[in-house]
Amino acid sequence: MKIALVGYGKMGQEVERAASQKGHSIVARIDPLAEGCSARDITAATLEPADVCIEFTQPDAVVTNAEQVARLKKPIVVGTTGWYEHLAAVEKAVLEAGSALVYAPNFSLGVNLFYRIAETAAALFEGFEEYDVSGMEMHHRRKVDSPSGTARRLGEIVLKAFPRKKRVRSDAIDRAIAPEEFHLVSVRAGYFPGTHSLTFDSAADTVELIHTARSRAGFASGALLAAEWIVGRKGVYTFEQVLEDLLGPRATI
Ligand code: NAD
Repeated sequence: MKIALVGYGKMGQEVERAASQKGHSIVARIDPLAEGCSARDITAATLEPADVCIEFTQPDAVVTNAEQVARLKKPIVVGTTGWYEHLAAVEKAVLEAGSALVYAPNFSLGVNLFYRIAETAAALFEGFEEYDVSGMEMHHRRKVDSPSGTARRLGEIVLKAFPRKKRVRSDAIDRAIAPEEFHLVSVRAGYFPGTHSLTFDSAADTVELIHTARSRAGFASGALLAAEWIVGRKGVYTFEQVLEDLLGPRATI
């Protein structure tokens, strides 16, 4: 696969390492600032040899980048987070151009399988009143967003599968928690690359599900998996939908 990297920061370079290990070639590195790039912006000539683009930039760059890539009829994988209020506009541009896009706030394969496990676990425990559910996420002190996008998604999954909980509370609670509140707290300290946990607790026992990221490598390999999948397709997909397709009949287990 011939890949154009849009954004050559920490994630762009991580994708490059993962891509070379898998035998893919990088045909363009596009970034207005980073060193070692082949172009400062997206043009028809720069993207011409690419089968697919992988975009890890910053939130305010995504709409323009995705629209330009769509106009040039190249599929794109967008890993940048924090732009989802513009999703409808980006989706429209991609569909009108007859192009393709996969996006996800978290491209880690482990996290996305964790979502499925969390959903099944929440649905199982929901049936037993003696079990309560809570969650926690921990990230390094430089992380700017809180709660993490992954924690937000985990919150949506639990509220859907565990209807006794009606609201996510991610801040500290300075009173007794209401039974319908799902306490999913965010901790920021030190160097944690990302830990998300879900706990089901009863008077008798505790069941804990924990996903711990070791590095950025998992995000890069998931983004590559999405890139391999999107080539030759049209439409707009989440990485969860890509996995659904890759899991096939196992997705319903
Ligand atoms: P970074 O700051 O190291 O790199 C971002 C790069 O984008 C910089 O080099 C910057 O010059 C470049 N850039 C800015 N505007 C651009 C534009 N218009 N065109 C091309 N390049 C442009 O950041 P990072 O750690 O690589 O993360 C990038 C994004 O990916 C962030 O939004 C982060 O939250 C997100 N992220 C997502 C996942 C995931 O799994 N979805 C995982 C890790 C990080």
